[in-house]
Amino acid sequence: MPPEPASPAGRSEPAGNAAPAGAGAKIRIPVLSDEACARLVSRRDAFEAVEAVFAAAAAGAARNFSVVREAIGHGDALYGFKSGFDRSRLVLGVKSGGYWPGNSDRGLARHQSTVFLFDADTGQLKAVVAGNRLTAIRTGAASAVSIARLARKDARVLGIVGAGHQAPFQLRAAAEQRNFERVVAWSPHRRTLPELAKVAQEAGLPFEAVGAEEIAARADVIVTITSSFAPLLKADWIRPGTHLACMGTDTRGKQEVEPALLAAAAVFTDEVGQSVTIGEAQHAVAEGLIAEQAIVPIGAVIGGAHPGRSSDEEITLFDGTGVGLQDLAVADIALRRSARPTTLRNGVAFVEL
Ligand code: NAD
Repeated sequence: MPPEPASPAGRSEPAGNAAPAGAGAKIRIPVLSDEACARLVSRRDAFEAVEAVFAAAAAGAARNFSVVREAIGHGDALYGFKSGFDRSRLVLGVKSGGYWPGNSDRGLARHQSTVFLFDADTGQLKAVVAGNRLTAIRTGAASAVSIARLARKDARVLGIVGAGHQAPFQLRAAAEQRNFERVVAWSPHRRTLPELAKVAQEAGLPFEAVGAEEIAARADVIVTITSSFAPLLKADWIRPGTHLACMGTDTRGKQEVEPALLAAAAVFTDEVGQSVTIGEAQHAVAEGLIAEQAIVPIGAVIGGAHPGRSSDEEITLFDGTGVGLQDLAVADIALRRSARPTTLRNGVAFVEL
């Protein structure tokens, strides 16, 4: 059977399904790879999209649905969904995926995910977008937004705790938010620190591998991005005026800082419901050290309803749990930018990207 004629994908031909999907209708669904997403969505795009969707959520125009995350009882894998709807931009969808620890032995990333975008008017599938690269970009964007909004303007030393897959994305995005002069970093496993040093050099910043306590003593902004299940940073190490973006804790039981630090800080988050259940604040709330009501959605700062940092001495802490709306916002950009032809063969779409 000869290939059917090519048709444009993305917004130029609205929604992946060009024709109403009645009986026998042709389905045209763009499928975007990680490589395509890397080309189509810049750090600036992700920053603006994540900032906008945080603000929309705080204003009640967008919302995240409950997260599902389950141990599937096979290969030690965790699998789940993050979903939501941004009514202000009509972006609806779900990110599905999780964590497969055995993937390293196969030469694959341990975190695997895919975003499915749907037409908000009809429920029809619009696009399938690889989520691995986008997750890293949107997670870097979230901590970057927190730094832009909450860190002291005169912050000069950037601290990174963790040197895994996400850390370079965090470093690059954070480095753009202030006039940093140096990066200090520590990781429980030191093997990958040299790779992080290269990323700092590319960003034009001198890099020093130091101990955890020294990061606290020297950094004005600290990003934590580890899979830790116990505090790595002690509360009394942290100096007044520090901004922390705690990005690693996204599951019940994970923890990167002492709960007392949250009691000493002004705490902000992407999503309060996630912060107190799967985020860094879960421990401080469970121990009665802070109240859920005291945690401020960063969207309220972006939208002007909350002033953010109150003084140069205040410690600010952003609990970045990772929300579905972030994934959908960046996947939507990738879809809108991907105006490459889709070829249909026997109802299956092929996209050259
Ligand atoms: P990775 O496996 O590539 O790297 C893990 C990092 O954590 C390394 O620096 C490692 O040394 C450290 N680490 C591993 N086990 C540890 C332990 N038991 N105690 C202390 N440190 C430990 O992981 P990654 O892809 O870089 O992700 C890091 C973390 O960020 C994970 O917890 C992941 O789930 C989380 N994450 C959060 C978001 C978000 O939106 N908040 C998005 C993506 C990933």
